[in-house]
Amino acid sequence: MTIQQQTKTLSHFINGNKTKGTSGSYSDVYNPSTGEVIAQVPLASREEVKQAIQIAKTAFPAWKKTSIGKRVEVLHRFRQLLIDRQDKLIQVICEESGKTKEDAKGEIIRGIESVDMAISAPQLLKGEYSVNVGGDINAFSAKAPLGVVATIAPFNFPVMVPLAITSMAVAVGNAVILKPSERVPHSALLLSELWKEAGLPDGIWTVVNGDKEAVNELLENKDIQAISFVGSTPVAEYIYHTGTKHNKRVAAFGGGKNFMIVMPDANLEQTANAFLGAAYGAASQRCMAISGAIVVGQDTETRLTEILKQKVLNLKIGSFQEANIDFGPVITQQAKDTIIQYIDGAVAEGANLVTDGRNPSICETSKGFYLGPTLLNQVTPDMKIFKEEVFGPARIIVGVETLQEAIDLINHHELGNGVTMFTSSGRAARKFQEEIEVGMVGINVPIPIPVGYHNFGGWKRSKFGEGHMFGPDQARFFTKAKTISERWPDEEEDTTSSFAFPSNSDTNIQ
Ligand code: NAD
Repeated sequence: MTIQQQTKTLSHFINGNKTKGTSGSYSDVYNPSTGEVIAQVPLASREEVKQAIQIAKTAFPAWKKTSIGKRVEVLHRFRQLLIDRQDKLIQVICEESGKTKEDAKGEIIRGIESVDMAISAPQLLKGEYSVNVGGDINAFSAKAPLGVVATIAPFNFPVMVPLAITSMAVAVGNAVILKPSERVPHSALLLSELWKEAGLPDGIWTVVNGDKEAVNELLENKDIQAISFVGSTPVAEYIYHTGTKHNKRVAAFGGGKNFMIVMPDANLEQTANAFLGAAYGAASQRCMAISGAIVVGQDTETRLTEILKQKVLNLKIGSFQEANIDFGPVITQQAKDTIIQYIDGAVAEGANLVTDGRNPSICETSKGFYLGPTLLNQVTPDMKIFKEEVFGPARIIVGVETLQEAIDLINHHELGNGVTMFTSSGRAARKFQEEIEVGMVGINVPIPIPVGYHNFGGWKRSKFGEGHMFGPDQARFFTKAKTISERWPDEEEDTTSSFAFPSNSDTNIQ
């Protein structure tokens, strides 16, 4: 495409510098609240990605050799900069993602939690030591960084996801290449400036902007040791299979269909309030957003639907620049069209519109990508809107007779990121948490996203590969173990050759 003169052209961040793209290929970046193009982001060619990887590879050995204490000092300074520059970060997140300021601030705080976790790397890197495992030999195991690792991020958390998947990688001594979403490149570039200001050596944090072409180079290049991906399930599956085929360690976090089971004994006013924020916050563009309620008992369903209808009709949508907004636009016009197709399809399949957000009044005054909150009931498990992730404010209500039926419906769903249950029964909650086949489980908690020091990750087709985001597991994902056995014999000690397999036992096995 041709570059419009009035919009700015963004860069990559390579070797500690903003670097112009040379591929000649660009993608528009929108402000979803106004519908305007605010920048063009360069889409890196495979050759540009290759060069960036080589620069990271050259920078890696010195960073690996830097003491863990010094590496963590950089993270401390980076953490402080995230706090000092939060207003700028909030502005950038809001402008390119359409989030409310309050929501953007929440994302930064959760991102800082990941940095905090990474600051505890010295604790997590401590190895194991055994004295005199045999013949004066001491054995110890240590964790070594992998080398150059790549992370590929989605649009919906422009700051939190890059922090969540890179901070630990940097802290344990790797060089990181981030490929942010082409929808939200400003945030990643701003993070680059903060890393540099914090004193991170050039080449240890790289941003290559791009699309599938750049990603394919990361997946196939022999100098990339591990890939941490966050995005939709079909792409996560592709990343996992292609990356592992090229012998890389891969953790690929995909989409979610996160249900809230509502029991007849739940406090329905509290439950409805919890549903509202968890389901519609960030225009439902969260992998852990509540996708719908599975309500046990006809009477509970009727009462909850009525309470929700009144509350949903009172939600305010608009630009982040207005006060008291509940949520903003969706990311693109294309995303908006897709969500409307899901709603149209559900109605055609027999679902009932409790509220219809397809044409909110703000559409008359703004070209932004706004959709009002839609709530559908009489939804059944065979409908497309039940089976697939809908990444926008169209939420559903499904009625069932028993808790067992609700658990079975969720367990048969192909996605298993998050789930929650609202009840006042400890026994029901216990059955639920024991039997549910989902990675992150809440009980009377609207969004069960783990805190930064617990492992994050879904089950089934919500995650491919073994690693977790956040938590101690992340330090394991970004390191490899080395086990060393050492002995220091006296100069005069008599040694003989032994041709038996080394063992340390007198047991006579016959
Ligand atoms: P997406 O899958 O479209 O894009 C994610 C990344 O992959 C982007 O950087 C994009 O450029 C790249 N990409 C897209 N298509 C590709 C292809 N064909 N080949 C190679 N790379 C490709 O996701 P999105 O729309 O940016 O983000 C929303 C999705 O991310 C939702 O499904 C959401 O549930 C999911 N998500 C999951 C988590 C989690 O932790 N499980 C967290 C946030 C978002």
